[in-house]
Order: sequence, then C-alpha cells, then structure tokens
Amino acid sequence: MTVHATDPGPAGPPGAAPPVDLPQVRAFVDAEIVPYADGWDQAERLPPELLHRIAELGLWSPFLPPADGGSGLTWSELGRVHEEVGRGCSSVRSFLTVHTMVSWTVHRWGSDAQRARWLPRLAAGELIGAFCLTEPDSGSDAAAAGTTARQDGSDWIIDGHKKWMTAGQVAGLLLVFARTETGMSAFLVPADSPGVQVTPITGAMGTRASMLAEIVLRGVRVDADALIGPPGWAAGTVMTGALDLGRYSVACGSVGVVQACLDACVAYTSKRRVAAGRLSELQLIRRKISDMVVGSRSARLLCAEAGRLKDADDPATIMATWVAKYHASTAATAAAGDAVQIHGANGFVSDYPVARLYRDAKVAEIIEGSTELQQITIADAAYREVTR
Ligand SMILES: Cc1cc2nc3c(=O)[nH]c(=O)nc-3n(C[C@H](O)[C@H](O)[C@H](O)COP(=O)(O)OP(=O)(O)OC[C@H]3O[C@@H](n4cnc5c(N)ncnc54)[C@H](O)[C@@H]3O)c2cc1C
Repeated sequence: MTVHATDPGPAGPPGAAPPVDLPQVRAFVDAEIVPYADGWDQAERLPPELLHRIAELGLWSPFLPPADGGSGLTWSELGRVHEEVGRGCSSVRSFLTVHTMVSWTVHRWGSDAQRARWLPRLAAGELIGAFCLTEPDSGSDAAAAGTTARQDGSDWIIDGHKKWMTAGQVAGLLLVFARTETGMSAFLVPADSPGVQVTPITGAMGTRASMLAEIVLRGVRVDADALIGPPGWAAGTVMTGALDLGRYSVACGSVGVVQACLDACVAYTSKRRVAAGRLSELQLIRRKISDMVVGSRSARLLCAEAGRLKDADDPATIMATWVAKYHASTAATAAAGDAVQIHGANGFVSDYPVARLYRDAKVAEIIEGSTELQQITIADAAYREVTR
C-alpha cells in the first residue's frame, strides 16, 4: 500500500499534480474554506469553484504517483492535508475521503486499462468518485448488501439500491459493490450510465454540504472492464482496503475538528465576560480547553502512527487506524459538545462555527465503522493478543 513521497520537480512528468505544500494547504483552508463553510452548510452544497480550486492545488488524489496524475504524497502527508481540510469543513473533507477511496481502488487493484481510463480524470478532479456500499437495509453489516450483478455475455447487469453516498449528487464515477455468483464484487460505473438514478438526500444533521445521494441502479449494463479484479473477490480486498483508507481520512479530519473547536474556544473565551470574570480565567472553562489540547494532540499522534505504518506497508496499520479513528472521532464529539457549551447561546446558532462543528463531529462516529464496531473490533484484537 505504500506510496512514497517523490519529488516530481517543479513541473513533474506530464499530467502530474503540483507538489503539495502543507503551509499552502493551511493558507488555502484559512482563506477559501473557513469563511464559507457555514454558508455551504446552510446551502447544503459545495460550489463548483471550490472543487476547481482543489484540483488546481492538486488535492484530489495527491497520493497517486506523478505518472498517474498525483504528486506522490505519502499517507502520513495526506493525513495532515485531510486534517487541515477537516479543520475548515468536514463536508469538503468528506468529498476528499470518498474520492481517495475510489481513486486508490483504481490505482491499487485496477487493470492497466482501468488505470489509463480513469486515473488522470480522477486525479485532475474532472471526475468525482463516490463509494457505493451502504444500502437501505445494510450498513454496518455490509456483507448483507442486496445489490446484484449478473453476467450477460461479457457484460454485467447491475440491479440494486444504494443509500447515503457522499458526493453522490455530483459524482461522475461510482464504485459499486454488488453480489455476484461467487461473492461480493466491485464495479466502476459511470454515473451517467442508463439505469442509474440519483436522488439528492437533504436535511442531514451534519456534513450538510456533502451532497449525499440515494442511487438506484436498474438493469445497468457495464462492460467486462468495469469489474475490479476477478468476480467475487472484493470483500477482503477492495472493501477492506478502501474502508481502511476512508477510516484514516475520517480520523485525520476529526483531529481537524478538535483543533477547530480549540481555536474557536480560545478566541471566544479570551473576549467573553461573565459575572465571575473573563471566561478564559474560569477553571471549569480551562479544564475543557485542556481536554481539547490533549484530545487533539493524542488523536494526531495516533493518526501519525497509522500513517507511518501505511507508509511502511505494515499490516499493523489496519488496527492502528481503527484505534486512531475511534479516539479521534470520540475526541471530536467531546470537544464539539464542550465548544457549544462554552459558547452558551452563541454556540446554538450559526453566528459561530461551533454549532456546525458539533453536528459534523457526530457523523464521524457513524461512518467508516461506527463507534460500536470500533469498540468490538479493538476489544477482539486485544483478546486475540492476550490469548496468543
Ligand atoms: C453523512 C453520511 C455519509 C455517508 N457516506 C457514505 C458513502 O459515501 N458511502 C457508503 O457506502 N455509505 C455511506 N454512509 C453510510 C454509513 O457507512 C453507514 O451509516 C454506516 O455504515 C452505519 O450503517 P447504518 O447507518 O445502516 O447503521 P446500522 O448498521 O443500522 O447500525 C445502527 C446502530 O447499531 C450499532 N450496531 C451495529 N452493529 C452492532 C453490533 N454488532 N453491536 C453493537 N452495536 C451495533 C451501530 O454502531 C449503530 O449505532 C454515510 C452515512 C452518513 C450518515
């Protein structure tokens, strides 16, 4: 799974993304995401100009090698990028998360033809990827997915109903999981294929600008080249690998949410006065601030460990990522709850970012393995270790 940092030079090979520079990403987030995130949240959509800016900065799939349109960013570096973006807006980070899952899948398991066909456009953000696993009746239990694909000559015919697709309203390429005779398979389905029906989901509690959609596939015909790997092979490979990356991205984005809560609360409490004095001088408030400091630093360290193990191609990254995501997402919901409390009534409305942070933080405890599934998985591993 390793993608090593390679310096493509000032220009890099033809089609390579510009090198990613963390201070530049931070400045981009501060200038072009933070001031607008609440507006996007209210409008329930991200503007196309923002998606173009992400492309200009080479942030759609920078982990791809330059030959495939990326800039050879390591997973550790990508984690810091997703943290920064998550600090600004979890909806934007969500777009990057699912896009990463799709483009990594094509890069890691796609055929030469699939890579040549899809990667340049995914890397350039000309196509947005959507990860289509969850269904109305199967979420945590992904193995119960009812979407099917049957062979018709060399083509495949896909029928099913997917729900909660991040970026589904604007995605051009769908990574669809469907049951075939020999087990779960993964297909690359152009979103404009006849039989694909996309319906926006509105009114979500958090990540409201992530442009969620419900996607129904009715007799969607794709050619043999749409299938990733052999039929029936996706469960332990594509699904596990892509979800691990998604989990890593959500964990890093959650660190950004804790940091945003901390920044907002330090600024607010330094100004706000109550009868007992300035909020920043009150011990009960300072205790919450110190919890945010510890939450952000510990979660960042756990994400760094998961990223380092990914860069070393060490399978221990899978468990390290579960642990990082569990800690980071619960630290984010705790920090966001405290942030609203510290802001009092001002935390309850959209004049300050903490109301959005509070709603967005909750999503991270549901997606890419819910908190309960993480608790089960982490404890299972502990018992395996002890009994070994
Ligand atoms: C904003 C948002 C974006 C999303 N984006 C995508 C996307 O892009 N692509 C995609 O495929 N899906 C997406 N999802 C779906 C997401 O992956 C699922 O919501 C998630 O897998 C949980 O499934 P579920 O909602 O069906 O909950 P369920 O599986 O029904 O679980 C309900 C509750 O039961 C708990 N639970 C489940 N099993 C156990 C158990 N064994 N023991 C104890 N408790 C258990 C869960 O933790 C949860 O609290 C998105 C969801 C949201 C909210």
